[in-house]
Formats: sequence, C-alpha cells, structure tokens
Amino acid sequence: MIRILIVEDEKPIADLLDMSLTAAGYTCDCRMSGTEAADAVGEKRYDLILLDVMLPGIDGFELMEYLAPLGIPVIFITARSAVKDRIKGLKLGADDYIVKPFEIAELLARVETVLRRCHKTDDTIVVGDVTVDTQSRVVKRGGEVVPLTAKEYALLLLFLQNRNIALFRETIYERVWENDYMGDSRTVDLHVQRLRKKLGWQDRITAVYKVGYRLEVRE
Ligand code: CA
Repeated sequence: MIRILIVEDEKPIADLLDMSLTAAGYTCDCRMSGTEAADAVGEKRYDLILLDVMLPGIDGFELMEYLAPLGIPVIFITARSAVKDRIKGLKLGADDYIVKPFEIAELLARVETVLRRCHKTDDTIVVGDVTVDTQSRVVKRGGEVVPLTAKEYALLLLFLQNRNIALFRETIYERVWENDYMGDSRTVDLHVQRLRKKLGWQDRITAVYKVGYRLEVRE
C-alpha cells in the first residue's frame, strides 16, 4: 500500500487530489497547514508528499526544509506563474513539481514516476486474476504468462496508471506511440481489442462515448 500525504489549504484542490489518487489505488491523508503536515509525518509513514507552496503559517518551502532529512519524496504544487518557486522547490530537494491547474493524467504520471524513481512502487500490480511484474515486464493471467507486444504492454501500463479514468484516444495514442495523433483511432481501437481479449478484460476496459476508454477497477 502506497500512502500519500496531501498538504494543500485550498479544499477543492485537496479534494480533487484525494479523489483522483484514491481512485488510482493510493491511500491518502490531507492536511491544510504546514504544522499539521509536520505532525502527520511524525505519526505515520508516508511514501510521497504532495506539497502546496502557499500555505498558511509555515509555507511549503519551510516545511520542505523540515522534511528533506526524512527522505520522503516530495512533489511541489505551484501556481502557474511562479517559475522561481519551482526552481527553489527543486533546489530544496523536491523530486518534481506540478503546476496548478493540472490535469489528472499528468498528476498521476508524475506521482508514478517519482515513486518509481524512489523505488516506492510495488513491483507487482494485481487486478483480478491478472498480475503485472513491472520489473520483469511479465504479465500473467490466472498464473499463465500472457505474451504482450511492446505496445500492448505500454497500453496496459497506461491503463493501470489511470485506473477508473476515461482516457482520450489522443492521449492513449500520444503516450503509447509517442507520436502526434493524426486522427486515426483504429490503431488504438485495435490494440485495446487485443489487450481485452488477451487479459479477458472485455468488461473491464470500457468504451467511453466520444472520449476513448477507461479501465474499471473497483476492488
Ligand atoms: Ca495554497
């Protein structure tokens, strides 16, 4: 279980972060001030902290100085215009930053990347009877190895990193094929169909009208 501390005093943003990360399978706690956040890290073990810069009382930078020796990865949340805040955050030892307003897919990708870099991820992802070993890249269904192509594997990882979130065909294409989307969705559709069939995920990867696809994980 990966535990994330969200330190953000704007409640709608804190709620959005909490909801999105919880839906993606993380366990989250929220704190509204630097003092409360410092108390929280004293009480529980966290794998990652999402830290807003502008906080009442102790701000994000001051808190970062307190957190740095603890070795917990930190992603700063900064306002769009505050370029120097981003640089200052990184200099203080933050692992990454995210700029408000952010897209959920970007947030999840950054969280995943930082956790992976800091070796905080579980190497094995389990969804139903499917297990994915992200170190060896071996995928099994009911204990049997499922051979996937490189693109199918990349597609699977993208879905797993964005559980219960509708992904646009464009986003899928750009992330998996690392090319600009030229309006041909058949490549994406074909690969989704292949992945569904191989994993028995006909009901799990659902088509979202006018958007694309969503991986449904409700366990
Ligand atoms: Ca704030």
